[in-house]
Amino acid sequence: MSRIKIIGAGLAGSECAFGLARRGHHVDLFEMRPVKPTAAHQTANLAELVCSNSFRSSAITNAVGLLKAEMAMLDSLVIRCGTEARVPAGDAFAVDRDRFSAAVTSAIGDQANITLRRDEVTNLDRGDYDFLVLATGPLTSQPLFDSINDFLGRDGLYFYDAIAPILAADSLDMSKLYWKSRYGKGSATDYLNAPMTQREYEEFVAALLSAEIFAPHDFEKAAHFEGCLPVEEIASRGIDTLRFGPMKPVGLEHPVTGERPHAVVQLRKEDLSDDYFNIVGFQTKMKVPEQKRVIAMIPGLENAVFARFGSMHRNTFINGPRHLRATFQAKKDDHVFFAGQITGVEGYVESSAVGLLVARYIDELSHGTPATPLPFHTALGALGRHVSESNPDRYQPSNVTWALIEDVIGRCKKIEKRERQVAAALESVRAICGAA
Ligand SMILES: Cc1cc2nc3c(=O)[nH]c(=O)nc-3n(C[C@H](O)[C@H](O)[C@H](O)COP(=O)(O)OP(=O)(O)OC[C@H]3O[C@@H](n4cnc5c(N)ncnc54)[C@H](O)[C@@H]3O)c2cc1C
Repeated sequence: MSRIKIIGAGLAGSECAFGLARRGHHVDLFEMRPVKPTAAHQTANLAELVCSNSFRSSAITNAVGLLKAEMAMLDSLVIRCGTEARVPAGDAFAVDRDRFSAAVTSAIGDQANITLRRDEVTNLDRGDYDFLVLATGPLTSQPLFDSINDFLGRDGLYFYDAIAPILAADSLDMSKLYWKSRYGKGSATDYLNAPMTQREYEEFVAALLSAEIFAPHDFEKAAHFEGCLPVEEIASRGIDTLRFGPMKPVGLEHPVTGERPHAVVQLRKEDLSDDYFNIVGFQTKMKVPEQKRVIAMIPGLENAVFARFGSMHRNTFINGPRHLRATFQAKKDDHVFFAGQITGVEGYVESSAVGLLVARYIDELSHGTPATPLPFHTALGALGRHVSESNPDRYQPSNVTWALIEDVIGRCKKIEKRERQVAAALESVRAICGAA
């Protein structure tokens, strides 16, 4: 059996420690709270939910619903404690946050194989442990942040995420859009363009400026990088600033009329699927209903269905595709794993899921077998796909979405397709993991 050092007893670290301990491994679990607090956590409990109390949809045809079902099949501690602490919330899986983290804390305390150490860890020294797991989350303490940065090297670790909305391709009105890359460079079908007249543009800018936005937390008030401003902040700098920035029409003349629109919104294919488009340069702090209202003003996007809403917030995460394998091992050192939100997954459920997977992969290695990533058509496997196969130059944290889950079904009606994808994913998890 192996000895493992896990840093961070949040959702991912607790899930990982529990998964290893119940397989007979010995875990030292380091948690800095309450000795050193974070800017968001309020208690000393393990797996504290820092904001909402929701694990999101429980519908199995929703990607996060499927993820939870797969986790339950693998005996996830977070799903078990979440089920015990569940409160009525319609379709959502919501929990009583105090009961939830008290249940996780007590389950970890009951495991003889886990020693909980209330200490801040400031470096990646593995000592005589067989494996090291970094699960310190979006608010990783500064000394450890610096050590991870040194370990990964240039372009390894980020401080902020800036997410533009992602839209379902089949919800776009193609009669108003056209394919074209700027100046005709690159593939002709990399970008869709939504042209705007002057009047449409001015109304759009006015809507952006009046949209309600999320107020930043105190610890998020750092200046944004100039190259990555929220779209509404660019708009606030002058009526034409967007037209000289992400909505620049130059080189995007209409392929049929040859006319140059007043402004253009570009949509780029998501890396892992042709079914979804990202709105280029539209990272935003607008509240969700405002995103729906304002984006619907873009010609062709009137009925757009959001696969993911835009956001910008403080978040420590590493450039997964540059530094991680699909098993969440560091490419630099197979004995070092990352787990949770620091890998570039987003959300309570996804972070816990990575902890669950890392426990499984460490167990495989401990038995002398290679760590084998779950197939990418499962929701669990899709998280490994996201962190290892996304484009490293545009890597941003992501919730699990159908855009990340490999499509093994092909074209058919959407409801039928989702049902078949769910069946295939659950069947694979059952077969591979021997789950009940
Ligand atoms: C302000 C805020 C609001 C959020 N709201 C939501 C939300 O509503 N819904 C949602 O799904 N997600 C939300 N998130 C994201 C959420 O934090 C993650 O989904 C989830 O908590 C990540 O799990 P994790 O285990 O990776 O990190 P965490 O749960 O943050 O756990 C990391 C643990 O590591 C500890 N730690 C850090 N550095 C060290 C160190 N050097 N040594 C020892 N211990 C250390 C921390 O104290 C913490 O307990 C929010 C994040 C923030 C910052």
